[in-house]
Amino acid sequence: MNSSISLQFLRRTATAITIMVAVAPALAAPPDVAVTIKPVHSLVAAVMHGAGEPYLLLPGSVSPHDYALRPSDLRHIRNADLLIWVGPELETFLRKLAADTPVAKILTLQTLPGLRQSEPRRAGLFAAPQGSEGGDNHHGDPHIWLDIDNAKMIVQAVADRLGSFDPTEASRYRHNAEQVSARLDSLDAELVTRLQPVRHTPYVVLHDAYQLFENRYGLSAVGAIAVSPQQRAGAKRLNQIRNALQSGTAACVFSEPQIPAKIVATLSADTAVRTGVLDPLGTQVAAGPNAYFALMKNLAGAIVDCLQDN
Ligand SMILES: [Zn+2]
Repeated sequence: MNSSISLQFLRRTATAITIMVAVAPALAAPPDVAVTIKPVHSLVAAVMHGAGEPYLLLPGSVSPHDYALRPSDLRHIRNADLLIWVGPELETFLRKLAADTPVAKILTLQTLPGLRQSEPRRAGLFAAPQGSEGGDNHHGDPHIWLDIDNAKMIVQAVADRLGSFDPTEASRYRHNAEQVSARLDSLDAELVTRLQPVRHTPYVVLHDAYQLFENRYGLSAVGAIAVSPQQRAGAKRLNQIRNALQSGTAACVFSEPQIPAKIVATLSADTAVRTGVLDPLGTQVAAGPNAYFALMKNLAGAIVDCLQDN
């Protein structure tokens, strides 16, 4: 008798499980989304708000230019429904994996149509890119999130893609995207006003990451010590910059949180040049929907603090 009851129980359970499995796709859990860097993760989190949370691959303190994948990253990427990255110019560590990922499971932001782009600068005090110039994979400056129109385009593309994964939540993603875009417009207007007084004050940055930001707000960067953080400047180049700083070419030199401040301290020693820190990845802000807004305001604040009163 016991065995017949338990058999019946097993059958019922099996039926229940079958029904659950058949029903599961309609319950539509939010897509499992992995995002490489904090600024983009923040925009994605804002689009997903109320439906789910994306996973941030790169901890805040590391540079995407020279990151190496950990086994846990690989697991997250393989299990994700969607991987969102900037592209091969920024997350060089993902090049191979991205090439092997089906198109439906990856969103490459740097190839979005209409995105504002720029070429790394070479003239004057800007470091010339090393190695072969104009390679096949060349898409220009990968710091695309530092232009607010680009951020709006990213938000729209993410909402569209998530909506196609998850049609039951498509209207939420669309609504969130509209709200974020409106907030981005206000942020833009705020930054225009804040940066206006320092537009004509020259400065030097550690790596040529801010061109889109500078173009948008009409700032006067006159040089970058390196093209990317992993390209160390040689002695000749450091001398060139040091001479320029001594002759008063720039009011301020900016380092970045990931880089030892020693180079900047050495360069600015015995000069009237001030120093500041720019944090294009928002390493100092908490991840989440507000991180993008905080890091953009911090960038503007650091620039104004270092350049004003000149
Ligand atoms: Zn960079």
